[in-house]
Amino acid sequence: MATALQTLRKKPGAKVIVLEKESDIAQHQTGNNSNVIHSGIYYKPGSLKATNCIRGYAQLLQFCDENTIPYKLCGKVIVATHQNEIPLLENIYKRGLENHLSGLKMLTLGELKEIEPHVAGIAGIYVPQTGIVDYRLVAQKYAEVFRNGGGEIKLGEKVIDIKPSANKVEVITNNASHVGKLVVNCAGLYSDKIAALTNGKIDVKIIPFRGEYYKLKKNKEHLVKTLIYPVPDPNFPFLGVHFTTMVGGGVECGPNAVLAFQREGYKKSDINLAELAETLMWPGFHKIASKYWKTGFGEMYRSFSKGAFTKALQKLIPEIQETDLAPGGAGVRAQACDRTGGLVDDFLILEENNAINVCNAPSPAATSSLAIGETVADLVIKRL
Ligand SMILES: Cc1cc2nc3c(=O)[nH]c(=O)nc-3n(C[C@H](O)[C@H](O)[C@H](O)COP(=O)(O)OP(=O)(O)OC[C@H]3O[C@@H](n4cnc5c(N)ncnc54)[C@H](O)[C@@H]3O)c2cc1C
Repeated sequence: MATALQTLRKKPGAKVIVLEKESDIAQHQTGNNSNVIHSGIYYKPGSLKATNCIRGYAQLLQFCDENTIPYKLCGKVIVATHQNEIPLLENIYKRGLENHLSGLKMLTLGELKEIEPHVAGIAGIYVPQTGIVDYRLVAQKYAEVFRNGGGEIKLGEKVIDIKPSANKVEVITNNASHVGKLVVNCAGLYSDKIAALTNGKIDVKIIPFRGEYYKLKKNKEHLVKTLIYPVPDPNFPFLGVHFTTMVGGGVECGPNAVLAFQREGYKKSDINLAELAETLMWPGFHKIASKYWKTGFGEMYRSFSKGAFTKALQKLIPEIQETDLAPGGAGVRAQACDRTGGLVDDFLILEENNAINVCNAPSPAATSSLAIGETVADLVIKRL
């Protein structure tokens, strides 16, 4: 939606059609995420993630202000619980400075306790810019502004084939055919499949990782004031359950990261054998599985055992008990993985003759959406 909106903003009057297979927008990653407005502290300076997150952050806040979408810049703490995490914490702090974040603060235990009295840690970083919003609302507003600007959204249209030719491209859906100059693929969990329709040599596969949440029961919400994150594992920056206050009230705990047996598999019991076989047969997946099987089993165990999930949360807030947690929702991350087992870290945008494929847009792509949209829109405009 952000890409469509930015294209129309840059070229008013252009004919832009969004094809969405669901009966409404934001039914997948965008509507099932942690709803955090990320500051950009973690990302390698100069990477697409860093530049788009920092630019997108400012654009998102401006969009929310202009369209009266509620958000809150509540700040977050990143907490080291062991001495061996201190060098990693210091690296994150340095990265934040390199990414020009202002107001970052290394926290002693006393300072940490002033912000989050119930946290157990030995040191932390305070990131004042981090905030919370409802991305489903944001996407709905993108859609409204896009439509008001003359854009068209066709719901219930699943793209099943794309036929590029010299100076046009035909997009075939379950119930129509659309001919245009250019197709832009922002299909999230199916972005590799759609990309393969315009580029037979595409060499990344989307591996779906489900993230499951619990909610803190009302009488325990006071244990969390802002957002509380652990120090991320550099190999899997998206791992590590955290606490997130929500803009509409309440506190979420999670998400974990388990292999989903279906790309849009939000429940443990959701299995699509063809999709699962495709994941298991991807050479890159074998490499990840053989290298990180212990981490994978740990995540799986925490998925099935509420006690183990609670234990992971207790590292940050020891007072939390299993009985304090009520079931929450789940989201599935579209993580691109290459043939050699590398999890693609940065956003990945590939250009073909009649197509632009956004092949990897994981977190913080919701925060960065207007900036990624602008980046893609610039590529679109060059071709029109
Ligand atoms: C658990 C979780 C937590 C996250 N937390 C955060 C966070 O706190 N902050 C943040 O910035 N980011 C977060 N992210 C990342 C963020 O949600 C995503 O990066 C972002 O939403 C990606 O948007 P997208 O439009 O690329 O994908 P999606 O939102 O998944 O949209 C893709 C769309 O394509 C449609 N589609 C797919 N195939 C077809 C087809 N064949 N035909 C037609 N339509 C099709 C789908 O129905 C879907 O609507 C999180 C993600 C997850 C999963």
